[in-house]
Amino acid sequence: RNIQSHNLKTLIEDQLEYFIPLANKKRVEIVCNIENYAYDIDKDDFIRVINNLVSNALKYNKVNGKIYLSLKDNILKVEDTGIGIKKEKLDDIFKRYYRATNEQGGFGLGLNIVNDICKEYNIKIDVSSIYQKSTTFQLKF
Ligand code: ATP
Ligand code: MG
Repeated sequence: RNIQSHNLKTLIEDQLEYFIPLANKKRVEIVCNIENYAYDIDKDDFIRVINNLVSNALKYNKVNGKIYLSLKDNILKVEDTGIGIKKEKLDDIFKRYYRATNEQGGFGLGLNIVNDICKEYNIKIDVSSIYQKSTTFQLKF
């Protein structure tokens, strides 16, 4: 690990370069409201977190859906207008290999990795969802 101060806004925007063409392909709009925020973290760890959350928000979204990405007052939010997660499954999604749906491919690893990284840095992660409507991940730094 190489923990250094990084402007999270810059790291997020760098990753979005890669996601925008994929989002366009699925006709998903990414709406950003990101403030500058300096945080001590290993760059690759933060990139893993953002990539997993945004790739899920895209993968589990609907055509013509939206992703709202915001960073404000030490809180990062990734919200999507996708398929949502049933309430009774919300506690399980951070478990290794757990998948709430098989409609899309995947290994059930992404959120487990995100969860481990958040623990490492004492970042509080919360999820809320309305089934078939929306999902929001919130990270408090
Ligand atoms: P991968 O290892 O490729 O990330 P995955 O996306 O299936 O595979 P996770 O990212 O760990 O695995 O997510 C676990 C499960 O949680 C998913 O299979 C999906 O059912 C559910 N999930 C995660 N993010 C969302 C989301 N934004 N909207 C709806 N369901 C989600
Ligand atoms: Mg995933």
